[in-house]
Order: sequence, then structure tokens, then C-alpha cells
Amino acid sequence: MIERRAHVAEEATFGNSGLLAPGMAMPLTLPGAFATFACRFKEEPRELLASGADFVRNRWMRQTRQAQQQHFAANKLRLSRLSAYGQELTLQLQAHYNMEHENGNGLFHLFRQPSEAARIPQIQEAAQQCELKHKALDAEAIRELEPAFSSEAELAGALYYPDDIAGNCVLFAKQMRNAAQELGVSFHFGSTVKSVQPEFGGRVALEIESPHLSQRLTTDGVVLAAGMQTADLLRPLDTPLPLRAMQSYSALVPVKNPDDAPSMALFDDSYKVAMTRLGGRIRITGLLGFVPPSQTIPPKALRNLLKIAGDYYPNAANYNQAHFWSNTISMLPSGMPLFGPTRHGNVFVNVGHGVTGWAAAVGSARVLADMIAGEEPEMEADGFLPRDLAAA
Ligand SMILES: Cc1cc2nc3c(=O)[nH]c(=O)nc-3n(C[C@H](O)[C@H](O)[C@H](O)COP(=O)(O)OP(=O)(O)OC[C@H]3O[C@@H](n4cnc5c(N)ncnc54)[C@H](O)[C@@H]3O)c2cc1C
Repeated sequence: MIERRAHVAEEATFGNSGLLAPGMAMPLTLPGAFATFACRFKEEPRELLASGADFVRNRWMRQTRQAQQQHFAANKLRLSRLSAYGQELTLQLQAHYNMEHENGNGLFHLFRQPSEAARIPQIQEAAQQCELKHKALDAEAIRELEPAFSSEAELAGALYYPDDIAGNCVLFAKQMRNAAQELGVSFHFGSTVKSVQPEFGGRVALEIESPHLSQRLTTDGVVLAAGMQTADLLRPLDTPLPLRAMQSYSALVPVKNPDDAPSMALFDDSYKVAMTRLGGRIRITGLLGFVPPSQTIPPKALRNLLKIAGDYYPNAANYNQAHFWSNTISMLPSGMPLFGPTRHGNVFVNVGHGVTGWAAAVGSARVLADMIAGEEPEMEADGFLPRDLAAA
């Protein structure tokens, strides 16, 4: 395992909402998500809104629109199944290695306005198709299940997923590293892969910048799971990967009054913001859009994040002690993860998990491991394979 950072889980994984939630798993295609950014955060710059002839961007936009119109339902089904498989395996690993965790059960997919809640039957139908345990709730039933909601909060309705979980993804990744190390996996931190070169005969050479590894390492095979960098590593191999980086941000606040704090996770559909309880803290996360990573997050966006949490749980936390964090998630136009072999024999990829990167992580890793071992995966990989991308 070759990682440029000093530890595991320092990039996209670090501040994620921790939803291990097949119920909320859906391909992140722009027409759905973007409508929210456009109406809620008008003052923030978005590359997508910029005019001008950017051929690559425009093509990407066309593809994401097409994926939303033609494949959304089928892709949601696939992603929910992958996330359910991932959740099941994650829980098995936590139990097997006796891992510490901060898992909490139950998630509300919440709608503020009656006009928004009108979509509930349609979403319920999708949940039924995906065989997800769920219940449609009105405001009274929501408050009965989660008494911590403020009496002032706008609650037009919710879909409740009792089996969805919110937990601590970084804690899991760190313990997985220890478990893997004990099984004999070598971790090389502070080491950057500069290039990948398939060799005649099936082996793969890696050019590495590292204080302790040799500059050139020849391996039997490699899995590229390097977020956005995966596309840069594949480009010289004439294997384009249309990944784009979407900026996402989060706030972590200490719980002030446990009785007024949420015991379950929520996803606010109006703002596309998630809130999860992590022991004595609450994490609030949102999507910003295609903001250049170098740019600092607009203060209005940070205030919005805390305001949204305060709407539901005004006395739960010390919101003025929030720690903010931001990173990018890599996504393909389809909003679906991609894993499997590339056309270069023993060069494999595992990328593009968008906002379901924890929920789907162990599932996609398992399917990929089975494929590499030449075994039949327990789960169908169609729709996630690099060859599907070429066909799209
Ligand atoms: C704010 C936020 C909230 C989220 N909420 C959820 C959620 O609730 N549920 C969920 O399931 N998912 C969520 N996600 C998505 C999830 O966190 C990501 O999909 C997942 O973390 C991606 O994991 P990864 O290992 O692919 O990427 P990363 O964690 O970014 O790992 C890629 C690693 O590759 C390393 N690397 C890159 N290039 C090189 C190189 N050349 N050489 C060596 N190392 C390299 C990087 O340093 C990095 O450590 C969220 C994401 C964000 C940002």
C-alpha cells in the first residue's frame, strides 16, 4: 500500500459524514444535485455556471445529464445493492476484529416543504425496488422517533431507514490498516507514485518518489485507488478516465446538551446536507460544487451549514466552536463508482465513489479482490466495470 500522505484516511475519507447508508445511496448526477446548489448558494462561484467554450466540461455535463435521464433508476438500484453489500461486510469486519466504532442506527431523509415531500411516494417506490427497509413519516411520527427535533423545525415529511447507519469512517480505516498490517500488508507512507508502466509479460512497473522505497518497483499488479490522481496516472497509458472533483465541506461541533442532540442521522433533501452524531460531536456536511480546490470556502457557505443544523437542533451543540474542513470527491458523469481491470492487464482501478465512498468501499474492494483472484464475485459487477465506461 503506497500512500503519499503520512497516514491512512487523510484526504476525501477524513471528514466524511460517516453514512453507511444503502437507503441514501444514489448516483450523484448533476441535474439532481445541481438544482440545489443553484437555488441555495447563489453567491458562490461555480465552474459549472461559468460561460465559455470548455469542450471537455461541456461534454462531461452532457454525459451527466444523459446518465440522469436514461440510467438513474437502474444505477440507483446497483449502487444501493453495492452499498448494502458494503455495509454488511463492514459490520462483519468490525465484529471480526472487535473494532471500536461509533455506529448509530436510523436515518431520516427529510423534506422541509410540502411541495418537496410530495416526492416521497416516488422515492418510496425506488426503496421498495431496492428492497430497503423504510417507512414514510409525517411530522408527528418524525418527532415521536426523534424527540430532539426543535418544535420550530420545518418537517413536512420523511422517509425513515431503520437499517441505515452513521459511524466513524476514519476510525474504521485506521483499524483496517492495523488488521491488514497484522495479515502481512506493508504500508509505505510519504511515498508518491509518479507513473505506472505495464510491462511485457504482465508485470507492472511503478515509478515512485519515496524516502525509503526504491525509485522503480516492479509488481505483479496494481490497484489504483488514488482519487482524482488516478486519472493523471492513467492518462499516459492512453486510458482516459473522465473524473471531475466536486468540493465538499463539513463542520464538526461539540455536543452541548445531549438531550437536545440527535440520536439518529438525517439528510436534509432541500439543502443536500447530512447531519450525523459521532459520540460527543455532531458532523454536518454539504456539497459545494465545482469550486477550484485552492479557493477558500466562502464564509456564507460555512454559516449556511451551521444554520441548517441549528434549524433542527438549536440547543444541541456549541455551533460557535465548529471546526471546518473541506476536500474533493471524485466523480464520473454517471455518478457511479468504477472498479475492475483496465485494458492494461494487471492495472486495476477502484475510484469515483462520489458520496457513497464509505458505504460502498468494502463491497467494491471485495468484488475487485475476487476478480483479481479469478473467483466469481458474490455481487454482480456489471455497471461498475471500466469496460462499461467505454460502452457508455
Ligand atoms: C464532506 C464529505 C462527506 C462524505 N460523506 C460520505 C458519507 O456519509 N458516506 C459515504 O459513504 N461517503 C461519503 N463521502 C465520500 C467518501 O468519503 C469518499 O468517496 C471516500 O472517502 C473516497 O475514498 P478513496 O479512498 O477513494 O479516496 P481518498 O480518501 O481521497 O484516498 C485516496 C488516497 O490516494 C492517495 N494518493 C493520491 N495520489 C497518490 C499518488 N500518486 N501516490 C500515492 N498516493 C496517492 C491520497 O493521498 C489519498 O490518501 C463523503 C466525502 C466528503 C468529502
